Amino acid sequence: MSSAKTVAFQAEVKQILDLVIHSLYSQKEIFLRELISNAYDATEKRRLVGLEEPELAYDGQAEIWLKTDKETQTLQISDRGIGMNRHEVETFIGTIAHSGTKSFAQKLTKIKENPELIGKFGVGFYSAFMVADKVELHTQKAGDTKGTFWVSSGDGSYTISSKKKSDGPGTTITLYLKKSEEEDYENYTDTWTIKRIVKKYSDFLDIPIKMMVEKTEPKLDKDGKPIEGESETKFEEETLNSMKALWRQPASKVKPEEYKEFYKTACKEWSDPLEIIHYKAEGSQEFVALLFVPSQVPFDYNHREVKWGPSLYIKKVFISERVSDLIPNYLRFIKGVVDSDDIPLNVSREILQKDHRLQALAKALQFKILKHFEKMLTKNRSDYEKIWDLWGATIKEGMASDFSQKENIEKISLFRTTLDNRWTTLDEYISRMKSDQKAIYYLTGESIAHLKDSPHMEKIREKSYEVLLLVDPVDDWVSSSLKEYDGKKVVSLTQDDLSFDGATSEEDEKKQKEDHDALDKDYQELKDVILGALSDELKEVKLSNRLVDSPVCLVSSTNDPTARMERMMGNLGQNLPKTKRILEINPHHAIIKKMKALPKEKQKTWADILYHQSLLNEGTPLKNPIAFTKKVNTLMTELSQVSPS
Ligand code: ADP
Repeated sequence: MSSAKTVAFQAEVKQILDLVIHSLYSQKEIFLRELISNAYDATEKRRLVGLEEPELAYDGQAEIWLKTDKETQTLQISDRGIGMNRHEVETFIGTIAHSGTKSFAQKLTKIKENPELIGKFGVGFYSAFMVADKVELHTQKAGDTKGTFWVSSGDGSYTISSKKKSDGPGTTITLYLKKSEEEDYENYTDTWTIKRIVKKYSDFLDIPIKMMVEKTEPKLDKDGKPIEGESETKFEEETLNSMKALWRQPASKVKPEEYKEFYKTACKEWSDPLEIIHYKAEGSQEFVALLFVPSQVPFDYNHREVKWGPSLYIKKVFISERVSDLIPNYLRFIKGVVDSDDIPLNVSREILQKDHRLQALAKALQFKILKHFEKMLTKNRSDYEKIWDLWGATIKEGMASDFSQKENIEKISLFRTTLDNRWTTLDEYISRMKSDQKAIYYLTGESIAHLKDSPHMEKIREKSYEVLLLVDPVDDWVSSSLKEYDGKKVVSLTQDDLSFDGATSEEDEKKQKEDHDALDKDYQELKDVILGALSDELKEVKLSNRLVDSPVCLVSSTNDPTARMERMMGNLGQNLPKTKRILEINPHHAIIKKMKALPKEKQKTWADILYHQSLLNEGTPLKNPIAFTKKVNTLMTELSQVSPS
C-alpha cells in the first residue's frame, strides 16, 4: 500500500450514511441486491467495451463470486467487471451527483420512508453499511495496472490508497458484518441465507453468481461404503441463480409472481406493474417482447436527459439498456425487454440505431402495444382506465406527434366530459350525440370545475350537448391536431364563428340573418368603441351566439394558439408573437344593453373591466391586477352614490 489518504465524505454522503447506519429497516438484505447489481452492471460494461477493444475483455467466462467467512464475519462480492480508477472511486463512491429533478433533501426523505428505494437514487452502494460496520473496496480498472483500495467505517471519512490487485481488473467488496446483540441480525455468512437472497432478487441476471458451498457427506471407507457416525465436509462450486431468460419462456408457463419478480429485478422497479405484455412475433419479424406498464411515475420522468425504452437483447445476449429507438416518445413509460432473432449480433450500437431491422422492430412493437391497449379497452376496461389515469397524458401526445398512428391513438384515448365523472372514448361520445348535433365539442382549461362554469359553455348547456373537458397541459396542443374523428368535426368552444342554431328552413335562415344584421348594426357603435379602447389586445369585437348569462367572453381564430398554449410556451421561454383575440359581447345581457346608452368615456372603462373579467374567466393571470381592482372599486363607488330611486 502506498500514499494512503484519509478523506472526509461529502456532506450529502454523510447524511445518507447516517440514515442507513441507524436505519431500523427490517429488510436489510437488499444490500446484496444492490451490490450484485453493481457487479453485474460493471461486468456488462466490460463485455461491451471488450467488443470494441478486445484487449480490455476478460478471458473466459464472466462470473460474480460471493465468499463468506464465519470466522472473520465477512462477506465478499467479487466481479471481473470494468473496475474503477482512483479518481472514479473518489467521485462515484465519495460523492453524490446532483442529478434528477428532486432535491437531495427530498431524496433523503423518500429513502427514509422507503429504504428499499435506495438503489433508485443512485446511492445503492451505501446500503452495505446497513449490515456492515466496515467496508473495503478493492478495484482495478480494465486496462490499468494499478489498483485502488478504499476502506471506510461509515463514520464520516474514508481512506484511499493504491494497491495492486493480484487477480487483475475487477472489483472486490468486503463487508465486515455488524455484530449486534440488540438486533436480530440475519447471518449473512450463512450459505442458505445468501442463496435465498440471490434467488429472490438476482435470479434472472444472466451472469452466473457463484459461491463455494459446503456439502456434508458421510465419510466413506476404502470400499466406498459410508462409515456410520462419521461425515466429512467438502466445498463445491455452485451457481446460485437460474439465469433463465424469462421472456423466452412461453407465456402460459410463466407464473404471475415470476413476472413481477422479473419486473422488479430487470426494470429496477419497486412496485408491481399495472400491465404485462408478453409477446412472441413470428414471420417477417422474429422477436420476443416482455413489456411492462409501470404503476408509478418515476421522479425524473419528463426530465429531458432521461433515456427511456426497453432493454435490447439479441438472441438472449444483452446489447443495451434503454433503447429509445425501440419505442415512440408517447409510449416512453413502457419498460421491459425486447429480444430479437433477426438483428446480427456484431452490429455496433451506433449503427444499430439506423438499422432498418431495428426500425421495423420498433414499428411492430408500437403496433402491438396499441392493439393490446385497444383490446384492454373492450375486455378489461377498469384496468385500462388505471393505465390511462397515470399515462394517458403521455399517450395523448401521440395524436399530435405521430401522424401514422393518429387514428389508433384517438381510438384508445379517454376523456372526461360534462356528462358524468367517468372516462369516455370518442366512439362512446359519438353514440350519445344529439340528433341535431353536428360536431364533437371540447373546452380546454385548468380544471373540470372551472370548465363547467365557463361562459363558453352557456349556450351549449341549453342544447344539452355533451362537451369534452380537457385539463392536461398537453391538451391544447393535442386537441388542435384532433380536428376530425370518424367523419365528425372536433370543435373548440372557444373557437370563433361558433353557432349551434341550425336553421330549419331557408326562410328561417334568411330571417335569422336579418335579425342578426339588424342587431349588429344597432351595436356597431359600441363595438367600435370597445375595439378602439382595447386595440392592443383585440382584433375584433363581435356579437355572440354562445353566451346566455355572461356579458362577454374571449375567443380565438381557428388557427391561433389558445391563451393557455401561449402562456405555456412563455413559461418554456419561447415567446410567441402575441396573438390578438376576439371579444364576443352578449347583446341580450343587461350590462351590454345598459352600456350602449352610456357616454363614450364610460363605455371605455366598462369595456376594460369586462375584458379583464373575461381573462380571469379563462384562467389568464392579469398583468396589472391592481389597476383592475381600482377600476372596479371606482365603478362601485359611483354606483353607491346613485341614490336608489
Ligand atoms: P448506482 O449503481 O445506482 O449508480 P451506487 O452507489 O450503487 O449507485 O454506485 C455508484 C457508482 O459506483 C456506480 O454507478 C458505478 O459507477 C460505481 N460502482 C459501484 N460498484 C461498482 C463495481 N462493482 N464495479 C465498478 N463500478 C462500480
